[in-house]
Amino acid sequence: MTELIYYDDPYIREMETRVMEVLDDGIVLDSTIVFGRSCGVKPDEATFTTKSGTYTIIDRREESGQIIHILEEGRPRVGEKGILRIDWARRFSMMKLHTTLHILSSVVLEKFDVLVTGSDITPEKAKIDFDMDRNFTKEELQLIEDEINRIIKEDHRTTSGVISPEEAEKIPGFIRSKSGKLPQGLKELRYTKIEDVDMQADGGIHVRSTSEIGGVKIVKQKNKGRGRRRLEIVLT
Ligand SMILES: [Zn+2]
Repeated sequence: MTELIYYDDPYIREMETRVMEVLDDGIVLDSTIVFGRSCGVKPDEATFTTKSGTYTIIDRREESGQIIHILEEGRPRVGEKGILRIDWARRFSMMKLHTTLHILSSVVLEKFDVLVTGSDITPEKAKIDFDMDRNFTKEELQLIEDEINRIIKEDHRTTSGVISPEEAEKIPGFIRSKSGKLPQGLKELRYTKIEDVDMQADGGIHVRSTSEIGGVKIVKQKNKGRGRRRLEIVLT
């Protein structure tokens, strides 16, 4: 199993690792800092440089519990060591927007009692859909934006870890997506906690402290159909 270094420290931008397996479309590494998908976050873009060359990692997929780093072209050999480097600006921007969406979903749950029906995060902007049957008013959007920015400035720490399904069931709103149920048969669930603000099921990676986000703005609202009022957010 590939060791997932980003869960220990999401701020590592490069590291040495080794090729364990070579497949048709990519490679399995001994350990990795290349993050996959969670809450609509896009996979990292990265390079892997060995004696035989530099390989561009364009995506990630999982198969039978294995993480495959998909390469654009060329393949290193099994056993080769190399340096893995992620596109840090891209990753850090998505970490900030991801933490923002957790704060936003917590604010909207508290003020409007609605859950999330979808989300999508790119380095440029984040989109989140809520199970609302009407648009948010201009005043409500301003209230939400002010509340998120207040929480960001208050500088709350984020932590993550695992808990048992029994513990998870006792936490109101732990599963934040409307369709979400606790997965059956799992011994433990990953969560992310923003101190005093939010705790929810999440396999993603976040900024250490909300002040790192700086500030955000809600730039658009769209009606994407029943139970899908979409807000678009950018970093300021
Ligand atoms: Zn998340």
